[in-house]
Amino acid sequence: MNWRDELQKGICEVEQLPYHTDLSSKDERQLRSVVDKHPMRISPYYMSLIDWNDPFDPLKRMVVPDVEELDLSGSYDTSGELESTKLSGLQHKYAQTALILVTNRCPTYCRYCFRKRLVGLETEEVLQRFADAAKYIEQHREITNVLISGGDPFILSTRVLQRFLRRLSNIPHLNFIRIGTKTPVTFPERILADRDLVALLRKYSPRQRRLYVDVQFNHPREITDRSTDAIARLTGAGVRLMNQTVLLKGVNDDPATLAELHKGLVRIGISPFYVFQCRPVKRVKRRFQLPFEQGLQIVERAKAMLDGPSKRFRFVMSHRSGKVEILGIAGDEIFLKYHQARDPNNLGRLFKRKLVPGAGWLDELQRVPAASGKTRQKKEVRLPCPTVSPHSCEPRGELFLAHECDRFRASGVHHKGEMPDHYNCTLFVYTKSRVEDQKSDSRYMTG
Ligand code: SF4
Repeated sequence: MNWRDELQKGICEVEQLPYHTDLSSKDERQLRSVVDKHPMRISPYYMSLIDWNDPFDPLKRMVVPDVEELDLSGSYDTSGELESTKLSGLQHKYAQTALILVTNRCPTYCRYCFRKRLVGLETEEVLQRFADAAKYIEQHREITNVLISGGDPFILSTRVLQRFLRRLSNIPHLNFIRIGTKTPVTFPERILADRDLVALLRKYSPRQRRLYVDVQFNHPREITDRSTDAIARLTGAGVRLMNQTVLLKGVNDDPATLAELHKGLVRIGISPFYVFQCRPVKRVKRRFQLPFEQGLQIVERAKAMLDGPSKRFRFVMSHRSGKVEILGIAGDEIFLKYHQARDPNNLGRLFKRKLVPGAGWLDELQRVPAASGKTRQKKEVRLPCPTVSPHSCEPRGELFLAHECDRFRASGVHHKGEMPDHYNCTLFVYTKSRVEDQKSDSRYMTG
């Protein structure tokens, strides 16, 4: 079996859907308009997993377009990927992690994909020059891991993947390399039919520095003999496997399904890593996102059915400001914690918001009013250092500045008086003042 021939047999047209002849002309027209915006592709293997007699089949829901995708509420970039892009195809949001988008194609397009803005479409967001990305990673010694993502990287030839792995493996400050792929789930032929790929992964997963593969199983029915065989080939090559599930309405939104999925994953050698709150992406939010209350209830009830290794995952939302762990609800408040943060000062920060019924994203929650009295407030003011005169950096009364940049980020050095001798710093103004006194910050900075 040649995996490329198999890939060509994917279903891409509305007329190829088994129930096409049952569609009304209006439904067909609307479905076409959905597919015109965001292409459909379903591998023959994944088609065979769908129960076409069940109108609510969860696997079908994940890959077959629906008129509900005409709903445009949400955004196409919910995690701030564009603002994290340092050069075409390379994102650097968290200090330790670089992400490279090596392709915009996948063997099967998931209808809930958070990169809907680019998968299967013309885009300039994917990598143009790998050499530039590798150089950037080499020059940023704070980067300890690289995630090769897309689209699905395994849709590329083994020769191209070899080029990536060879170059990245030679960067000494990388602790490990990760590849994000759904091929074991949607197109296991890619792994089963290409011995060269498995040999390549084995070569770049030595015992001193293992290669990691992030997979995405969302439903227990995706754990089949074929996907299990593909996973066995990867684990046999010494690759470490982690799973990221997306919590999806109509797919895995009940505790028993989520628990069965995680039991199955551990059984075949995959470590549960994250359960993601579905992002409020345009054409996705209405169809797939669950409110926090419901999501938390499902996750907690599923955890109650699981043993320790099966419930190692965190329930998180990948927000613009960072990866926010969704911890729990008490009364009308929801408790959250920054697991990863764009602003390193937020790392590990526990915070709460007032729960708004139906809310499914951080921006939809209400801030809890600050207690009256004196509290320390922080305001971020981004200025290149040379525009700040030395005296403005001196502590004055209850005001002081904290200085943070690539050089001092780790130590959190407070900058009091002396000017830094380098550029592109971020200055933070702290003030012990009441919330309503915050304007004094800007007077301080500008005056
Ligand atoms: S395989 Fe991944 S990148 Fe491709 S459509 Fe699915 S979720 Fe998106």
